[in-house]
Amino acid sequence: MSNKNKATIAVRHGIEADKHHGAVVPPLYLSTTYSFADFDTKRQYDYGRSGNPNRDILAETLAELEGGAKGIITATGMSAVHLVTQLLNSDDTLVIPHDCYGGSYRLFTSLEKRGLLKLKVLDLTQANNHQQIAAIKPKLIWLETPSNPILRLTDIKAITCIAKQCGALVAADNTFLSPALQNPIELGVDIVVHSTTKYINGHSDVVGGAVIAATHELGDELAWWANNIGITGAPFDSYLTLRGLRTLNVRLKQHQENAFTLAQYLECSPYVSQVYYPGLKSHPQHELAKQQQRGFGGMVSFDIKGDINDAAAFLTSLKDFTLAESLGGVESLICHPATMTHAGMEATARLNAGVGDTLIRISVGIEDVNDLLADLDQAFAQLNAAKSPTLTEQQGDVAEVKTQQDSSFKFTPALTALW
Ligand SMILES: *Cc1c(COP(=O)(O)O)cnc(C)c1O
Repeated sequence: MSNKNKATIAVRHGIEADKHHGAVVPPLYLSTTYSFADFDTKRQYDYGRSGNPNRDILAETLAELEGGAKGIITATGMSAVHLVTQLLNSDDTLVIPHDCYGGSYRLFTSLEKRGLLKLKVLDLTQANNHQQIAAIKPKLIWLETPSNPILRLTDIKAITCIAKQCGALVAADNTFLSPALQNPIELGVDIVVHSTTKYINGHSDVVGGAVIAATHELGDELAWWANNIGITGAPFDSYLTLRGLRTLNVRLKQHQENAFTLAQYLECSPYVSQVYYPGLKSHPQHELAKQQQRGFGGMVSFDIKGDINDAAAFLTSLKDFTLAESLGGVESLICHPATMTHAGMEATARLNAGVGDTLIRISVGIEDVNDLLADLDQAFAQLNAAKSPTLTEQQGDVAEVKTQQDSSFKFTPALTALW
């Protein structure tokens, strides 16, 4: 493993890999097949599903960044999740968090329905549920921290400790923070999963996934399955994802600086009832976030005061936030989980998971934060004007409301200490 710092690894791994021409950027290898050097003498690569130089450079870089032994690049984040389930036999139990990514939840429950594994769903954010795990004797424990959309944390070290006692493997979906801000393998996890679609590629133009194993043995087994079931990623996708990965650290710095500013602004806003961001002191697991993360990430959620109509009016009057699902791209996206990402959930389960009608989730981009603040400000002011027409009439316009909002907000740039 390289002893270089992670930002350097992300920028430089695979640079000058082309010994033929000295291309600085690793060339794109689209060829599906490779000639044999001689009779019965295979070169490093023989067939594109089994191996490809672009995929390998991306896999090695991600493995280095996560502190793992081997990486496997898959076609989507979901195929990365699916790949890990190949380690389970039909009588093996998989423990999953009740609020894991909706697509993962759907996959795990459908595999269980077909008898391909046994499933136990627990709220892993609550330490008092951890004791149940040992009695369940799982083969694999699935983690996702912080969780979507209200950014609850799971204590990774506490779970890996219990897993060691009962001989279970632990896999962590690290999509929300990326290897720049959290490295679960260093906290005892065996397998890290990423939807590289999000922060790792970072430009909302490639769907992809990755699995990183802590040991060569586990990595080889997973790589064998990836080739066997044919879910390895495309060369061009790997090429683009590596290009995105080069700037991961600088992007994440800006994402989280902007997110922290927005979270503080929202916490002061008279139009907001609650803000969910691990970087805020008011977050119930703020101390845990400081222990196991190197930053607080770029996702912020909040409950707007009022009802679903207020949420709708607010969302549709924004100009610099795009109403869309997904996350982790350079552009700010805003979503209403109840009608978008979590619409498939039954209403009571959705409310139990904390996803009410007034919840709004932001994937904070790397735009100038003052433009983002101004946009939130004007949208809140419009909401206020619509609710109190007399106020607007008396004051002529919404400028007064805006100043009031501005003066209540004090920005403290305090994140640099974490880097
Ligand atoms: C998006 C996402 C996935 C699924 O990844 P795809 O690339 O969409 O297949 C899995 N886990 C998390 C946490 C995600 O955000």
